[in-house]
Amino acid sequence: MRVWSRDDLLGTTSAVAGALWWPYRVEPAAEVGAWALASLRRYGRLARDPERTGVQWVAGVHADTVLDGLGPWALEVEGLRQLAPEEVPGPYRTGLAARLPLIDMPVHLTFLRGRFEAMGGVYERREARGFEEAAALAPVVVDCTGLAARELVPDPGLLPVRGSWSWWRTRGSRSGSRRRTSRRARPRTSSRMPTGWCSAGRRRRATSGSPRIRRRPRRSWRGARGCGRRSRGPGPRAPGGAAARAGGRVRIEAVPLPGGGRLVHHYGHGGAG
Ligand SMILES: Cc1cc2nc3c(=O)[nH]c(=O)nc-3n(C[C@H](O)[C@H](O)[C@H](O)COP(=O)(O)OP(=O)(O)OC[C@H]3O[C@@H](n4cnc5c(N)ncnc54)[C@H](O)[C@@H]3O)c2cc1C
Repeated sequence: MRVWSRDDLLGTTSAVAGALWWPYRVEPAAEVGAWALASLRRYGRLARDPERTGVQWVAGVHADTVLDGLGPWALEVEGLRQLAPEEVPGPYRTGLAARLPLIDMPVHLTFLRGRFEAMGGVYERREARGFEEAAALAPVVVDCTGLAARELVPDPGLLPVRGSWSWWRTRGSRSGSRRRTSRRARPRTSSRMPTGWCSAGRRRRATSGSPRIRRRPRRSWRGARGCGRRSRGPGPRAPGGAAARAGGRVRIEAVPLPGGGRLVHHYGHGGAG
């Protein structure tokens, strides 16, 4: 199996994702819920080794969110509960208490690449100009080109949706177990979170005028348009944003290739990459 990537791992949209586990802004909701729960279980296993995988459990508040507005998947998420108004931190009116996987994407992508290569996969920096090129080498071609599928497929219904996140130094964000005192000591891990999410134990500072967060997010990252809140740290360059299709429906579809092969489109994950 070969992976072609036009960009370096750290130059992809995935590398700049928050990245909090949360099925959001992606359809069809019924199927996405089940897929998300499968990935939740998988991340749970990877979180046993956060240094290597980049996946860790983080307890916190999912601000501006109500339980009733979520799908049936929410019932399967252990510990997810609606907070009473007086429990909601900072300037928010509503929020959920949750313990969710938070993924340090540069670490995670490096881990995934290493695992793929250890299994005999070949990763190479290579830009495909069309699907024929890959189809000449393999009977099955998977198109996970993100936003680039807009030109490559082409799919004009695929649009960039930008998000934002904030940097801050965190302490004790590993659900109260291991504590950190500086981002430098453990580079990047837990220092980046989607706005609208407050890590446990730091809720007040994170949302009520901490000098490390100059102003609170007006909305959660997922609704925001325009990347402007990468307020701290030497983050990777931000690519064009998450790719979402009209109606929010992810495209996972196999189509026949002219030579008898198969092309599997797999893009448009919106805010639930
Ligand atoms: C600021 C921000 C925060 C986010 N936070 C979250 C979050 O908290 N949780 C969450 O679930 N999601 C989040 N997302 C969404 C998530 O990042 C995306 O849905 C996800 O990264 C999309 O992954 P992808 O693999 O489809 O695309 P990409 O990460 O864009 O990868 C596309 C790949 O295809 C390659 N490629 C493109 N064109 C070609 C070509 N012609 N030939 C060869 N290779 C090509 C690229 O080089 C790249 O390797 C966030 C997005 C942003 C922007």
